[in-house]
Amino acid sequence: MKTIIEPFRIKSVEPLRHTTREERERVLREAGYNLFLVPASDILIDLLTDSGTSAMSTEQWAAMMRGDESYAGSESYFRLKRVVENLTGFRHVIPTHQGRAAERILFTVLCKPGHVVPNNTHFDTTRANIEFTGAEAVDLPLPEAADTQAALPFKGGMDVGALERLIEERGRERIPLIMLTVTNNSGGGQPVSMANIEAVSRVAHRHGIPFYLDACRFAENAWFIREREPGYADWSPFDIARKMFSLADGCTFSAKKDAFANIGGLLCTNDDALARQEKDLLILTEGFPTYGGLAGRDLEAIAVGLQEVLDPDYLRYRIASTTYLGKHLAEGGVPIVQPPGGHAIYINAGRMLPHIPRHEFPGQSLAVELFLHAGIRSVEIGSVMFGEHARNELLRLAIPRRVYTQSHIDYVVEAILEVNARRHELRGYRIVEQPEFLRHFSCRFEPL
Ligand SMILES: *Cc1c(COP(=O)(O)O)cnc(C)c1O
Repeated sequence: MKTIIEPFRIKSVEPLRHTTREERERVLREAGYNLFLVPASDILIDLLTDSGTSAMSTEQWAAMMRGDESYAGSESYFRLKRVVENLTGFRHVIPTHQGRAAERILFTVLCKPGHVVPNNTHFDTTRANIEFTGAEAVDLPLPEAADTQAALPFKGGMDVGALERLIEERGRERIPLIMLTVTNNSGGGQPVSMANIEAVSRVAHRHGIPFYLDACRFAENAWFIREREPGYADWSPFDIARKMFSLADGCTFSAKKDAFANIGGLLCTNDDALARQEKDLLILTEGFPTYGGLAGRDLEAIAVGLQEVLDPDYLRYRIASTTYLGKHLAEGGVPIVQPPGGHAIYINAGRMLPHIPRHEFPGQSLAVELFLHAGIRSVEIGSVMFGEHARNELLRLAIPRRVYTQSHIDYVVEAILEVNARRHELRGYRIVEQPEFLRHFSCRFEPL
């Protein structure tokens, strides 16, 4: 059979509420045209993020009832630890309330002013947590990734030559760790090949530098390796993921992505002395090391989710459904970042709306219009989010896991193609109010 179906049926449903255009106009005015400030109950289809928005399975809900809420030594912690050890091989498994808490603890222990941390592309919280210690976060993406139209199989990797040069220029002793983000979220959700992970691991270990994965979407990355990298077609996603982790000395992980959990994170390492320092810090802000800021039932949901996410039927459906959205938009003439990533489709709003200059925010204009036209929430990834540092003016459509059906996605495609047909009518925006940091979350706009 050619048709790929959702590999689940629906037992519990959440109603969606349609709004009128007049309601949406009012909501937008009240929110200062910033979709972060729109109440979720006014959204029809929410593609703001794939983080913490997954639908949990019957097995996850059942496991939550088994949650052991003991302060210390919870059975739920030991169940999670066994699953993570089996998957990653890491000796120390430290739960945290989400991915950025793992980052803060890791970088607080390892980094100081004068240090440099290379990554293929730092996620925004990763960069912010490194910079908060006084260290410098350096992105080393592949040069070919700069071309948003080049449909290459593994655009998410690290430029290994640039890594070698960085180590030579700055000195090994100023680089406390090397990180690789799989898949490369800020780089369009593009995968990293096993060959690239191996190459980065080799360079790191030759210089005696610890090598960490930012493993948020490890399962989606494993599936791309199976589909696209010679030699892996017969491997199970579990075996591929296990090999990825075996090349690293530790990882940070947000369970809000590839563990289908609504909250949670992990910090893992093989270094005993480091783990001791990390657990000391954990107690200060997160909690005792067998719960790390989570309820016992959250640990259970993560343990089950980490096993479910590696099901080949799920991953085949997941990657196919994201590709489906990208393919139909591209065929309808909408410029998207190629090829489609694992968790999201990025529309190149700068190319779609060339009559709106960067300083009038083409991505924001498209985000507002998509909500006004069809009640869809997306997010600008461009000059609103990154100011002068923006490389492209993009609009991200992130796909929550196991939440929307194909007809929801067909509706999204139709809405975007209708907006695309009258794209010349869209106008820019100006910012009328903004905070000092991370302005995209709370700034207010006015249409021009
Ligand atoms: C989401 C994410 C994080 C941070 O995780 P949170 O759970 O949101 O704190 C870090 N790195 C990457 C690549 C992510 O996608």
